[in-house]
Amino acid sequence: MPGRNHLFIPGPTNIPESVRMAMNVPMQDMRAPDFGEFILPLFEDLKKVFKTKDGQVFMFPSSGTGAWEAAVSNTLSPGDKVIVSSFGHFSHLWCDLLERHGLEVVNFDVEWGEGVPLDDYARVLAEDKDHKIKGVFACQNETASGVTSDIAGVRKVLDDCDHPALLYVDGISSIGCIDFRMDEWGVDLAVGGSQKGFMLPTGLGFVGVSQKALAARAQAKLPRTFFDFDDMIKTNATGYFPYTPATTLFHGLKESLRLLLDEGLENVFARHNRIAESVRRAVAAWELDLVARGPEWYSDTVSAIYVPDGFDATEVIGGAYKNYNLSLGTGLARLQGKAFRIGHLGDMNELMIVSAIAGAEMAMRDIGMNIDPGVGVGAATEYLRSSRAANLASDKAA
Ligand code: PLP
Repeated sequence: MPGRNHLFIPGPTNIPESVRMAMNVPMQDMRAPDFGEFILPLFEDLKKVFKTKDGQVFMFPSSGTGAWEAAVSNTLSPGDKVIVSSFGHFSHLWCDLLERHGLEVVNFDVEWGEGVPLDDYARVLAEDKDHKIKGVFACQNETASGVTSDIAGVRKVLDDCDHPALLYVDGISSIGCIDFRMDEWGVDLAVGGSQKGFMLPTGLGFVGVSQKALAARAQAKLPRTFFDFDDMIKTNATGYFPYTPATTLFHGLKESLRLLLDEGLENVFARHNRIAESVRRAVAAWELDLVARGPEWYSDTVSAIYVPDGFDATEVIGGAYKNYNLSLGTGLARLQGKAFRIGHLGDMNELMIVSAIAGAEMAMRDIGMNIDPGVGVGAATEYLRSSRAANLASDKAA
């Protein structure tokens, strides 16, 4: 089919042209005397995106799951007690990873559509008087269900009972897209991946690590080699790595960090919010339901949308791909066939999202869903128009 594929899965996301061009470089010597000068500023800019001055950010040549494993294996010991909650495919996988590492896992199974259960965390942490719980895990943005959780709230729960457990946050589909504040929220291990908000190919796993988490290494007995922070610390200090790094991706990262920081993180978050809200307006106009059960859970990076009973969401996704060259996100695990997802993160603007809404609308009508032509597109475009006008007016007033 002529024209490009319209990519609206929640990662890998669209790569800006300048980032793609930046990666079109010859292979280089990762031990060259000037390689460190190229790498060191990347660490500094990454810290700005993670919003940490006190912590350190590591880059592993892995997907996000590797970054999870690094966070866990460097800071915990077999049998350590941890609390986690699962409310979607990815938070469920976190839980699985913890169990496979031989930790004592207390898991809160939450209805899909909601997120981290603060009350349950507060109760269990308050009861844990002798501080057996070593880690508290929270998925900031559950990509499978389009649910965002309150990480500042998790920090408050820990502070309210003066609990010393480390706070681990999965920020893979949130960091660089929606508000994330590592130092302010006292996040000890913050996990990210290159193929979402960083607008890069898959292949860099990021871990932001607080000083407290770095100190926890001394007692942590889980085995680690590839993901050992110690080896990274020694070599990263001068801009090098303990093994062959993904040099090409670093050139893309340099450009994607420039794009994020030039736009300004607060503007990046506001853009994601407006684009997400336009999708929510379309969903309401289609008279469909989001999987997220209320505004407090809405995600600004991905919307998971239920199709009505009697329809199969995989047919919407298949038809969109085959007929309109539009890639929508599939319903994962228990949402398979029940929901489709629109990923609206990364390199995204108004007319791009309108194309996804138009294509989804056409694909839904194609399978006989009762949706008037153009209602979703109309609701989204009117919202985008009016919110832009409102933004311009307030800019002028300021
Ligand atoms: N956590 C979340 C919230 C995700 O969205 C994903 C991937 O989509 C992962 C973890 C796993 O990351 P990766 O596929 O990069 O290993």
